[in-house]
Amino acid sequence: MTDKITDLFGIDVFNDSTMKERLPKKIYEALRKTIEKGEELDSNVAEIVANAMKDWAIGRGATHYTHWFHPMTGVTAEKHDSFIHFTEDGEVIMEFSGKELIKGEPDASSFPSGGLRATFEARGYTAWDCTSPAFLREDAAGVTLYIPTAFCSYTGESLDMKTPLLRSMEALSNQAVRVLRLFGNEDVKKVNVTVGPEQEYFLIDKNKYLQRDDLIFTGRTLFGSMPPKGQEMDDHYFGNIKERVASFMKELNIELWKLGVTAKTQHNETAPAQHELAPIFSTANIATDHNQLVMETMKKIANRHNLACLLHEKPFEGVNGSGKHNNWSLVTDTGVNLFNPTKKPHENIQFLLFFAAVLKAVDLHADILRLSAANPGNDHRLGGHEAPPAIISVFIGTQIEDILAQLVKNGHATSCQEGERLNIGVHTLPWLKKDAADRNRTSPFAFTGNKFEFRMVASSMSIAFANTVMNTAVADVLSDMADSLEGVKDFDMAVAELLKDTIIKHQKIIYSGNGYSDLWVEEAEKRGLPNLKSMVEAVPAAITDKAIDLFGKHNVFSEVELHSRSEILYSSYSKTINIEAKTMISMTNLKYIPSVIKYTSMLADSINSVKKALPGADISVQTELLSKASSLLKDSKVAVYNLEEILSKACSKCTECEKANYYKDKVFPAMDKLRVPIDELEKIVSKEFWPVPTYGDLLFEI
Ligand code: ADP
Ligand code: MG
Repeated sequence: MTDKITDLFGIDVFNDSTMKERLPKKIYEALRKTIEKGEELDSNVAEIVANAMKDWAIGRGATHYTHWFHPMTGVTAEKHDSFIHFTEDGEVIMEFSGKELIKGEPDASSFPSGGLRATFEARGYTAWDCTSPAFLREDAAGVTLYIPTAFCSYTGESLDMKTPLLRSMEALSNQAVRVLRLFGNEDVKKVNVTVGPEQEYFLIDKNKYLQRDDLIFTGRTLFGSMPPKGQEMDDHYFGNIKERVASFMKELNIELWKLGVTAKTQHNETAPAQHELAPIFSTANIATDHNQLVMETMKKIANRHNLACLLHEKPFEGVNGSGKHNNWSLVTDTGVNLFNPTKKPHENIQFLLFFAAVLKAVDLHADILRLSAANPGNDHRLGGHEAPPAIISVFIGTQIEDILAQLVKNGHATSCQEGERLNIGVHTLPWLKKDAADRNRTSPFAFTGNKFEFRMVASSMSIAFANTVMNTAVADVLSDMADSLEGVKDFDMAVAELLKDTIIKHQKIIYSGNGYSDLWVEEAEKRGLPNLKSMVEAVPAAITDKAIDLFGKHNVFSEVELHSRSEILYSSYSKTINIEAKTMISMTNLKYIPSVIKYTSMLADSINSVKKALPGADISVQTELLSKASSLLKDSKVAVYNLEEILSKACSKCTECEKANYYKDKVFPAMDKLRVPIDELEKIVSKEFWPVPTYGDLLFEI
């Protein structure tokens, strides 16, 4: 089995070893230079690579290729073309040119552009991203060659998630190299961002899923009350994996391994029916592409097992929702993890400076980081008592905390706390070395040994934007640090001062207490940390002068691109809530109300027939139920009228910002009001009359 898996891994990827095997040595080396050093790609090289790629793909049964890109819809897009060409003699040949590899021309007008389209042409281009390997995918349409690409408008504005990410990786590398030079690292040419995203998801029975319009149209349940058992027994987290789920996981792993995705860890999560998959980390853009593949493959494989995979952040009210933990670090092209504290972190000034740079970056740009985790689904989680609060703070652990305290007090640190030996009290068990710091699950941003873990990211979202923000914010701080250190006479003195000064100014972002507590909200306010409770409140962070300067300086987003993105965010919020509201209205009118009417008629019939059969019999139970159900029925009708009315007033001529605020402040509360009587009815209406599967059916019966 192990041998087979090693044979299987990456079998569908045009990866380094395949390229080495199939490309002339010179061409292979030229391509590696582009991939590793970011050198420009020669068109002759592209021509030969395209041909080799085509031969490889056709040899594996491919008939089509597609430029695969990440428009701002959150999901990936693809348009398939066959390799078929006709010769002058009218013969059919399979061909793929360098031009076709490098450039595609999908019509950009059907993808979100946030106003860019009004000013610019509808034409769009996709450009080959050779830093993320091409791969094959097989489905009912046959085998297709997927080529990861960046997507931009006719005038070069980015219309996707990948372009800014690649730009930010370059910016960060440039600035990190500058700082490393100051520490005498002459051999480092490039610094890579490494990312490992942990993906949470729910699996439910497909037949039950298909009976719920809310799940089909919105990805979450808009109604539903908790079953007698929720997650209070904590028996699901790391619990035994059910047979049906296990067979899903097995197939998922194999499928992902074939695509070169390093699926590594899998376990049950906190909520019933909730699970997690974590890959081994890779460079940020490959991790981003792979995370999209993970999400798409999860859905596809679930289907094969008659399951539905829910990636929504909050599919069920009252049970934990899903997130994505974005593990982030920096590693040099010489293989050094810049956030490895080493044995003596207190003496490792380079580590401490990079560490302080992250603290400063997170403190200065907490608002934009918060935005990078914002989507309508995550509004249900952040700040709830399950997910990190909407306030950004950093957990750094006792070991580093102690070192920073020494630095602040004395200007230097002379000691560090070590992980002790853990005494389990049983001699036959091996002795374990304790980590130098405990974990804190309530922190939105935590230093976990040799990487930072951003835990706010939404489960259904691309990780591209979160990493783009991280990279740019850190690049900017490193650039300031390099500016102030380059050319100083006494480097050791200057760096010590800079370190101390940075920590003093930005230590307010450090917090190791319970992030779920109300006290923290008060404390954070005193510290002046932003608390952006909802997505709509977070969007303005994208277009502040601070954000425009930051992203502009490092060529990650132009001002025009930032404005277009904020428009897209607002409008995607409004559209999401609009679909949810309309789904609630239709479910209420077409399912719940008719079912409850049937139920009340049954009760009324029973009252009448019992009375007739046995005059004077006790009919108080039926009567009380009938009266309660009828009154909740009325409440439901009133609430649905109200929601319809409010929805009809959503103005179409307002700005996207005004519209989004209307949906948040008016439509959303009206949806909540409608949910209340329906969820009450679910508790009293006989199950045989209830028109949809309940939480109990969905969460516990697979
Ligand atoms: P934990 O359980 O503490 O979160 P794991 O070792 O399980 O830690 O790692 C979680 C994720 O972090 C995995 O995807 C892993 O590959 C990733 N990871 C580990 N080291 C790094 C690193 N240096 N850079 C980025 N991601 C990393
Ligand atoms: Mg983790």
